[in-house]
Amino acid sequence: MTYSYRHVLLAADLSEQSAYVARRAKHLAQTFRANLSVIHVLDNIPMPDTAYGTVVPLDPGSSYEMLEAAKSRLTQLCDELGVEMRRRWMVWGVPGEEIVRIAEQERTDLIVVGSHGRHGLGLLLGSTANSVLHHAKCDIMAIRFPDEVANDQPTSILATSEGA
Ligand code: AMP
Repeated sequence: MTYSYRHVLLAADLSEQSAYVARRAKHLAQTFRANLSVIHVLDNIPMPDTAYGTVVPLDPGSSYEMLEAAKSRLTQLCDELGVEMRRRWMVWGVPGEEIVRIAEQERTDLIVVGSHGRHGLGLLLGSTANSVLHHAKCDIMAIRFPDEVANDQPTSILATSEGA
């Protein structure tokens, strides 16, 4: 039996701190010579059309702009990580559920999440990390942010002193 990983899934909330989690995920994938996939779940942008009718944002331009901004940040992140196009995921839904769903669909054997993110409170395990931990069938690595990362705002994930 080998104890290596073949397919790592990075859950990226695209916050400033998520660059640190991305570097750690990339390093893990390189160490195990594993494939790297990335998922971002759109949880704060109204879905244009649903079975329950069209969701009309109050500001007509806002949800489109938020979608474009998320797309461009995800593209930049994946480009810098060298993630293949077919391994980039941007989906609508509840982050914890969608991360687990894509992990199963793509048969990833390790999910990398930040221990907290946009909704995290201090050093507590964030609700998304917690949900993934309880529902995923594969291994989970929850990356704890060192103190200095809280103030670290790199424009490029590779433009940092720490190696990728
Ligand atoms: P939170 O539950 O918001 O504290 O987030 C904990 C971790 O879950 C983050 O560091 C990310 O790795 C992941 N995560 C949270 N929200 C999302 C999202 N919308 N898309 C992808 N991953 C997410």
